[in-house]
Amino acid sequence: MSLDDIDTIGVVGAGQMGSGIAQIAASTGYDVVMRDIKQAFLDEGLSTIEGSLARFVERDAIDERERDEILARIETTTAIEEMREIDVAIEAVVEDEDVKTSVFADLDQVTDEHAILTTNTSSIPITTLASATDRPNQVAGMHFFNPVPVMDLVEVIRGHDTSNATAETVIALARDMGKDPVEVEDLPGFVSNRVLMPMLNEAMFALHEGVADAEAIDQVMRMGMNHPMGPLELADFVGLDTCLHILDVLRDGYGDPKYRPAPILKQKVEAGHLGKKTGRGFYVWDEGDKVAPAD
Ligand code: NAD
Repeated sequence: MSLDDIDTIGVVGAGQMGSGIAQIAASTGYDVVMRDIKQAFLDEGLSTIEGSLARFVERDAIDERERDEILARIETTTAIEEMREIDVAIEAVVEDEDVKTSVFADLDQVTDEHAILTTNTSSIPITTLASATDRPNQVAGMHFFNPVPVMDLVEVIRGHDTSNATAETVIALARDMGKDPVEVEDLPGFVSNRVLMPMLNEAMFALHEGVADAEAIDQVMRMGMNHPMGPLELADFVGLDTCLHILDVLRDGYGDPKYRPAPILKQKVEAGHLGKKTGRGFYVWDEGDKVAPAD
C-alpha cells in the first residue's frame, strides 16, 4: 500500500499522545477514527485538541473555518469494530506490553488486510507487538514526541519482519503529516530514549550523591548545554514511572548494569511521586507549572 491509498487513520488511545496524533492527522487532511476505552477519555482528548487548535487560531496559523474542518474529520468511538475501514492504525495506549499486545491482536482481527498497524511505543519492541498479528510485515513503529503538534521528529522503527514497502509508506506518511522521520532499528530505547534516559538517570545519581541541588543541576544543563529544560525537570515532565519503566527495559534488553535506575527514582515512584502528572516529583507542580524543588 502506498501513501495515495491512505484516507483514514485509526488512532487507538486518546491520551496526551493519541489526541496530538489525531490532531495532526486531521490537520493534514486525513479522516480520523480515535478510539479509547471510555467516552470520558475521548471527551478529554477532544478538549485537548480543541484547546490546541484554539491556540493555532489565536496565532493566525489557521482560521476558524479550518479549525471546524479539522474537528469534523475526527470521529470518536469506544468500539474497536469502528476501526474496520481504516488504512493505517497508530496505537498510543498506555505503555503496557499486555495491553498493547491485545490491542494489536484486536486490530489484526477487525481491520482490512491491507491496513498497516503502527505503534507509538517508547520502549516495547516492535517485533513483540508484530508477533501478536498475522501481518508482521505490515507492522512498524511510529514514535512521535510530546507535544505532538509542536515536535517535528518521528522515529520510524522496523520490526524484524517489517517489509520495505511498509517502512517506505510509514516514512511517507510521517512526512505528509508534517514531520521529519528518522529510521532507527528495533533495539531497546531506539535512539531517543537510549541516549536521553541515561542522562536523566545520571542527573538523579548526582542529586542523590549531593553533587548539587535539583535547581543547580538543571541550571547547569540549561545554561551550559543549551538544553531548553534541565534533566530533572524533564524527568518530571515525562513522568517518573515512565522513566523507570524505560530504564528497566534498557537494562533488561542490553543486560548492561550501566542502565540501572537511580535508587532515588525508584523511591519516588514507589511513593507515588510521578512528576508533573501527580503534582510532585523532583519538583512540586501546580496546574502544570513548576513551583519549587520537592524535599
Ligand atoms: P496517556 O496515559 O496520556 O494515554 C493513554 C490512553 O490510552 C488513555 O486515554 C487510556 O484510557 C487509553 N487506553 C488504555 N487502554 C486502551 C485500550 N485497550 N484501547 C484504547 N485506549 C486505551 O499516555 P500517553 O502519554 O499518551 O502515552 C501513550 C503512548 O505513547 C505510550 O506507549 C507512551 O510510551 C508513548 N509515548 C509517550 C510520550 C510522552 O512523552 N508522554 C512520548 C512518546 C511516546
